[in-house]
Amino acid sequence: MIKHLRTILVFLLLGAIVNVAVAWGIVVARGDSIIMPAQFKFSDPIPPRWVFSYTKGTGFRMLYTFLSDDFGKRRSSPLQVARAPNWGRARVPPTREDYELGEEWHEYAHGWPWPSLFSRVRTPSEKLFPMKSEGAIKVHVWRSSTTATMSNTRYLPLYAIWRPFIANVAFYSTLIASLLILPGLVRRQILASRGGCAQCGYDLRGDFSAGCSECGWGREAEA
Ligand SMILES: [Zn+2]
Repeated sequence: MIKHLRTILVFLLLGAIVNVAVAWGIVVARGDSIIMPAQFKFSDPIPPRWVFSYTKGTGFRMLYTFLSDDFGKRRSSPLQVARAPNWGRARVPPTREDYELGEEWHEYAHGWPWPSLFSRVRTPSEKLFPMKSEGAIKVHVWRSSTTATMSNTRYLPLYAIWRPFIANVAFYSTLIASLLILPGLVRRQILASRGGCAQCGYDLRGDFSAGCSECGWGREAEA
């Protein structure tokens, strides 16, 4: 029983490692390109409030957030009021400090099948630098053809979004376990169908009752 528990834990750990590796791989490959949102939403109906835009894509989510201020007046069409995703900065009402700093947030979640790790980059408004990151390991990647719009900096996310994280770990653990266990099961089936020992293949002429005289398979009970 303890042995099974240990095996399950090892597979869960491997699943978690693969999940993080996949998420970071997507970050490195995709970059931190900002997708300009098509539609803005308010975090709350009453000020103080955030204005945010939520973009979804395969393997990533992007949340662009800033303070409402006079944003509503500049827009002729009424903005939608909506709840930001639970990992977003817009989920917590803006503080006095937020107003004083006047910052915007770029939040990215990455991962597959479900984005499950995220990081935040704060940008003081009016200018793009300096940027401050939260929940991220900042790395530089080498690119042969660097364009002006594609930076060499990557923010590897460290914050977990727990529900998709657990779902991904379950997905990858099951996948790894299947890949490791299935070939053995198939091999045993083939050996047994040929009338041989399921472990070593020694020809038992289809009689498995006495176990295998060659490797001892099926004889543990007698020993
Ligand atoms: Zn055998």
